[in-house]
Amino acid sequence: MKLALEAPPLPTLTIAGREERFPVNRVFCVGRNYAAHAREMGKDPDREPPFFFMKPAAAVVDAASPTSVPYPVKTKNYHHEIELVIAIGRGGRDIPVEQALDHVYGYAVGLDMTRRDLQLDARDKGRPWEFGKSFAQSAPIGALHRAEDIGHPAQAAITLTVNGQPRQGSDIAKLIWSVSECVAYLSEYEALEPGDIIMTGTPEGVNAVVAGDVMVGEVQGLGAIEVRVTG
Ligand code: MN
Repeated sequence: MKLALEAPPLPTLTIAGREERFPVNRVFCVGRNYAAHAREMGKDPDREPPFFFMKPAAAVVDAASPTSVPYPVKTKNYHHEIELVIAIGRGGRDIPVEQALDHVYGYAVGLDMTRRDLQLDARDKGRPWEFGKSFAQSAPIGALHRAEDIGHPAQAAITLTVNGQPRQGSDIAKLIWSVSECVAYLSEYEALEPGDIIMTGTPEGVNAVVAGDVMVGEVQGLGAIEVRVTG
């Protein structure tokens, strides 16, 4: 096959303890999946069905080692959202909840970086969230830990500090929609494919960062990521 243009690079993530890398296909993100965060965003945390938005695969930044992201344009309120990240290894549609974990390749720590002012403006006008969520380098993700190595974490502290000060802290046991439920539900709407990523939502404590800030996010058992914001 001869391409008319040079093909864009394939985004990939580090796999802990392996030389081979994980090819990123699509990035799905769950909105409001911790009750305390739903409340801080002014929403009712009742258990409505989950909802999803997307980021382009090219928004992924490999944060397996300390890295940096630029403060994005067109915002004055650039927020951190620390999240548990699921990597899909085996595709499928209408996946039953009981079989959902069989489709998970592994887990990582990730940041759903958000231009909050643009997101809320779009939300309040009933417009899509893309300008708030789907910009370049908006998804730093640490090394993937394979489920065959670490199993499927159901309880683990999830934390984020900025310049050493605690900002977000919760436990993934407080996910309103569990890993299995997110995978099963999403697969009813879109056939999942190997390489898909699901960011599972953020706990309370989201807040702004500015150039020079250093974020350290951790999910117990998955290690920590360190991401500096540059000007
Ligand atoms: Mn998020």
